[in-house]
Amino acid sequence: MNDRLMVAAAGPGRSMEDAQSASQDDGAGQSRTRSLSVADRIRSAILSGDVAPGERLREVQLSVTLGVSRTPIRSALQALASEGLLDYAPNRGYAVRSFQTAEIVDAYEIRAMMEALAARFAAERGLSDAGGRVIEGALADGDLLLAKGSLRDEDRVTYGAINFAFHDAIHSAARCRMLGEMIRLCQSVAPSSHRNIVAFEFDDVRRRHDDHHRIYDAILARDSYRAEILMREHVASVRSSLVKSMLKRGVASAVSVSPVRVASERLSAASEAFHGCEKSAPP
Ligand SMILES: [Zn+2]
Repeated sequence: MNDRLMVAAAGPGRSMEDAQSASQDDGAGQSRTRSLSVADRIRSAILSGDVAPGERLREVQLSVTLGVSRTPIRSALQALASEGLLDYAPNRGYAVRSFQTAEIVDAYEIRAMMEALAARFAAERGLSDAGGRVIEGALADGDLLLAKGSLRDEDRVTYGAINFAFHDAIHSAARCRMLGEMIRLCQSVAPSSHRNIVAFEFDDVRRRHDDHHRIYDAILARDSYRAEILMREHVASVRSSLVKSMLKRGVASAVSVSPVRVASERLSAASEAFHGCEKSAPP
């Protein structure tokens, strides 16, 4: 845990809200590297498995490791608990929450449906100027980051924040409070959060980012059917990458391996069929 947190500690703290408002202020096309907040650094260590499920996180130790006072550590731990990454118990404090693989796969399945609906609503209802600026900022930031041709650990964390900004702007554009709440509920199974890209290879992230461009184009064109299909495939393919990564790292539970593989293979077949259709479509 400490190594990863120490690497991440090199950047100054900055909240997601800061990043999102900066993205709005900067407008489209003016990309820059985002710095990482205390919560980003701790989240990355948890999602990458550097901190084991059940392990306690202590304010004093984190304060020393990250070189910041206990106040931002305390708020980061509260924020991560509200995301569903940590459990809190009186007298024990915060500990990393654990999830069954099947629970994570289900959360992705449900989220793929909900996110697809959000993309459809966004295409039907149109983007606000502010929403469009956030999305274009996220696309430009991702282009800049991926232009390097490889990803370091801190780049993955940065891309997690970019990914969050992209999806969050689409949820807002859907203008449906109930849908937003359902998506938030799915993300309480933390490994299925938009911020979890820590385990993915460069090519995975490159492909997902290209998806973002296509989804945005479909929303701009008010093509609700295409926006819905592309988003569903996008979220489902992230699930497939995550499950493969978990199996590779031995994080997935043995009991769940078989059904997960079946689901993963079924998903890959569906994905290939989809891309086959897409290739035959006009450019
Ligand atoms: Zn995405």
